Amino acid sequence: MSGSRALNELTAHEISDLLARREASAREILDAVWTRIDQVEGDVNAYLRQTREVAAAQAAEVDERRAAGEELPPLAGVPLALKDIYCTKDIETTCASRILQGFRPPYDAHVIERCRTNGLVFLGKTNMDEFAMGSSTENSAFGVTHNPWNLDRVPGGSSGGSAASVAGSEAICSMGTDTGGSIRQPASFCGVVGLKPTYGRVSRYGVIAFASSLDQVGPITKDVRDCALMMNVLAGRDRRDSTSIEAPVPDYTEALLPEVKGLRIGLVKEFMEYQGVGVDAEVGDAIRSAAARFQELGAECQEVSLPHLNYSIPVYYIIALAEASSNLARYDGVRYGYRSADEGQDIIGMYRETRDRGFGAEVKRRIMLGTYALSAGYYDAYYLKASQVRTLIRRDFDRAFEQFDLLIGPVSPSVAFRLGEKTEDPVAMYLSDVCTIPVNLGGLPGMSIPCGFSADGLPIGMHLVGKPLGEETMLRAAYTFEQSTDFHRRRAQPVETRDGRRAVLARG
Ligand code: GLN
Repeated sequence: MSGSRALNELTAHEISDLLARREASAREILDAVWTRIDQVEGDVNAYLRQTREVAAAQAAEVDERRAAGEELPPLAGVPLALKDIYCTKDIETTCASRILQGFRPPYDAHVIERCRTNGLVFLGKTNMDEFAMGSSTENSAFGVTHNPWNLDRVPGGSSGGSAASVAGSEAICSMGTDTGGSIRQPASFCGVVGLKPTYGRVSRYGVIAFASSLDQVGPITKDVRDCALMMNVLAGRDRRDSTSIEAPVPDYTEALLPEVKGLRIGLVKEFMEYQGVGVDAEVGDAIRSAAARFQELGAECQEVSLPHLNYSIPVYYIIALAEASSNLARYDGVRYGYRSADEGQDIIGMYRETRDRGFGAEVKRRIMLGTYALSAGYYDAYYLKASQVRTLIRRDFDRAFEQFDLLIGPVSPSVAFRLGEKTEDPVAMYLSDVCTIPVNLGGLPGMSIPCGFSADGLPIGMHLVGKPLGEETMLRAAYTFEQSTDFHRRRAQPVETRDGRRAVLARG
């Protein structure tokens, strides 16, 4: 399976097989990943901090237990990168914000506990947009991340570091969070697989909150099988998250059958064009070819219109910002991380200075907009109205799912844009989430899988959207498509260019 590939280029299931056959140790796998990180991290900047000591101890424990003849979970010994949004016991957690600098959580998030008991090895915490607010990872307080396919491009966001780490073979798999597209869009821009589960399928306990009615945790991986394996680790009821769903957790790998005969797939018109403007031609062509491929594989593909999706962006930017303004009120300089310590300040002055210096511009903009939307006299006009339109969006999805088993479209209207291209224009940045946001408003599972490359070699992602708790159907369709293509086998490879700068070339 592994051919001539370096260990760090393998998928998690390939590594799992090697470890089970004792053809490699967790230590060797980890060393291969560190070697790669040493080579390319200076250019990519996927990580905010690496946890080499933690990882060494975890890998050693896996190797010892295996040597003692213990049967280990499938992902034991697999190196994993974590978005810096998960509380990790005694490991600094900042959400890429100055206001949390120095914060060492006294506990693990639920999903972190799950990863630990499954023997995954923690490489470090990845870069992201501050408090997960953004689509390019340029809102991090600690520098930008570069797309491993082309270092002049953004990796997407907000989980840009997590996607870049996997795409650049600096991690075997990673985890992100998705409030309005933050797993799927960076996965799409970086040519890897990303899955946002049904709202409530994975516990949010210990995940730093952005917009609580939309946030979900999910994996970013090199292929669909790895995504299913990670879902086996992450999914399940947790009484510490009251929105966590009681439903039994299947073995998601059992859904991976190459079979879509008779599957009814709707190509969503509103994903292909917004207010009369179509997605970029290369993206549109790749999605239409993917639909044709599904048809050849035996599915029935048809266009479907969900008209209220056109209101998703304004609805999201009221609901998400209102919830964010409430969630972020806790950062006052008293309880976590950074505190302004100017002499002679009263408590109000301390709050003000801490927030002024601690939060970046985008976070401040959102707190102000959200506070305004919730202020006395405006609640009905904004939050309530947005919640009503959210219901209309959900009903459009319900109606579409009476006719279809799965919906598809692009993840993003374009391939990865240039660093700096949209930073001066927040609205242009917001509009780039037009395809992903409706899925969070509907609480539905969504996925991005590679389905093509642009003329300049940048990955294009296909968006799959399932019914509530329809992860298995979605994974099966994703797997069937993937197995009939080879987009997922390409890896980004930094190479030295003549002018001494590093560029990145795809290798088959
Ligand atoms: N880009 C969207 C935003 O800025 C979504 C972010 C996310 O999913 N966390 O709100």
